[in-house]
Amino acid sequence: MAARPASFRVRQAGRDLAGMVHRFRLIATAAALAAGGCQSTPQTVASTDGPSLVVLLVIDQLSAELLDRYEDVFDGGLARLRDEGLGFENATHDHAVTVTAPGHTTLGTGVYPARHGIVSNEWVEWDGTGWRSVYSMSDPSAPILGHPELEGMGPANMLRPGLADWILAADPDARAVSVAKKERSAIGLAAQAIGEVYWIPEQVGEFVTSSAYESEYPEWVRRFNREQMPRLYADTIWQSEVPESLAGLSRPDTSRWEFDREDTAFPHLARTHADMAEPLEVNDWRWNYTPYPDRAVVSMAIAALEALELGQRGSVDFLGIGLSQTDRIGHTWGPGSREQLDNLLRLDAELERLFDALDRSVGVGRWVLTLSADHGILEIPEILADAGEPAGRVSRTERDALMERISSATPGGPWAIREAVATLPFIAGAYTFEEIERDPPVDSFAVLIARSHSRTRITSLSARSGVYVRYPPSWLAFGVSGTTHGSPYYYDRHVPVVFMGAGIPAGVSATRVATVDVAPTLARFAGIPFPDDLDGRPISEVLRR
Ligand SMILES: [Zn+2]
Repeated sequence: MAARPASFRVRQAGRDLAGMVHRFRLIATAAALAAGGCQSTPQTVASTDGPSLVVLLVIDQLSAELLDRYEDVFDGGLARLRDEGLGFENATHDHAVTVTAPGHTTLGTGVYPARHGIVSNEWVEWDGTGWRSVYSMSDPSAPILGHPELEGMGPANMLRPGLADWILAADPDARAVSVAKKERSAIGLAAQAIGEVYWIPEQVGEFVTSSAYESEYPEWVRRFNREQMPRLYADTIWQSEVPESLAGLSRPDTSRWEFDREDTAFPHLARTHADMAEPLEVNDWRWNYTPYPDRAVVSMAIAALEALELGQRGSVDFLGIGLSQTDRIGHTWGPGSREQLDNLLRLDAELERLFDALDRSVGVGRWVLTLSADHGILEIPEILADAGEPAGRVSRTERDALMERISSATPGGPWAIREAVATLPFIAGAYTFEEIERDPPVDSFAVLIARSHSRTRITSLSARSGVYVRYPPSWLAFGVSGTTHGSPYYYDRHVPVVFMGAGIPAGVSATRVATVDVAPTLARFAGIPFPDDLDGRPISEVLRR
């Protein structure tokens, strides 16, 4: 890690100057806007000592509870965030459908899913004759460059601009880059911005983009895929690197509730799940069941910093980074597993590599970053139940009973359906669309559901009939092993929000903040104008430097 005392001194010395410059830039930007729009913003506005790079770093499924649990064991990038960052311990996503695409897009736009339109990872739409399935980031008019066999992807379904768009609008020379394993992370963080956006499709094993963003791959991306990916994507074994001294912090390395109930302990081998003669199957194993894609994404982000000189050209640039493997590993082995501890130790090292590269390329104190997560997670319910907590899975029989009641009550309309399902013992609440849209709201869950609500983008089976249902806390309507997220409960909504860099004071705050606050806070901090109709607002403690 970079020597902390030295960077601390630089930070202290730069603080007053940074505050002055920040105020200057706000005034200059406002003047430029008044003089005829963002296009005329002079480049000198950004070539000051404020941050020249804004980084939005999202760790998929990194619940606040998980980060807290292992806080003391980190000595890399997560330790630097702990020691130098300003962390908000009461930060939540304040919408009901806590899944990946809405989580990233909410962080990227500063508005709730009901307004940015990415209400879930996928939804159905009524096309007049039947239900049509829509993937959140699909765009049939935007084929994947070099892979016409894959479904086209882009921000076509996105209804709002976000931080990356505001940064591009403020300065015609600014650059916006977003990299992740999942396209819904990379595109979600970039919102509607047409920058350089790259992801790794499961079937491909290297970074791609679509015609929504570019007409051909830049040479630096070709070179990265050719020269670095074969090395980064070579391993066929995942062996634990958890030191013996830390092993006791996680669950023992096996549990009959993990994964397929067989591949539950280290080492994890590609050959257990893939035909080793089929490179695409081995890629699929890496993509789904190892930490390795994250090191590829961090390396790609560092390559972008260098190739595109992000934050080094007198503009304020944007870099979105989505690290997804905490999510894959959490779903498969559970958040309390040895696998997740091993993954987090690797993540700690990868983030140290990233922050060192930012210091080296952009400069100490010249970049600002927010770490957050797209949603939290529930521990594997059977493990909670074994510990005496009320937790479990809604059975297939119960789910069938729910659908049966919905279909038999359908002739009576949504209110009849609501009445019919509300008394089922495994249903904690049922709401008609009319109730969700009611003001004042019927309860606090209705507030969260309203922020994920769309009358045209339908996110659940019951919602096709005009009713949302809520299962009890710690009950999953999912699978037979492993775990998931997606509920309006605190464990799925409570995420880290940590700001670091460019003079932000270190500390921990108990102030209640929401993930919609992240984008406007970063924008205000970097002197970037943003719309006045956001759901979030700048967090004043971050701006006090
Ligand atoms: Zn996710």
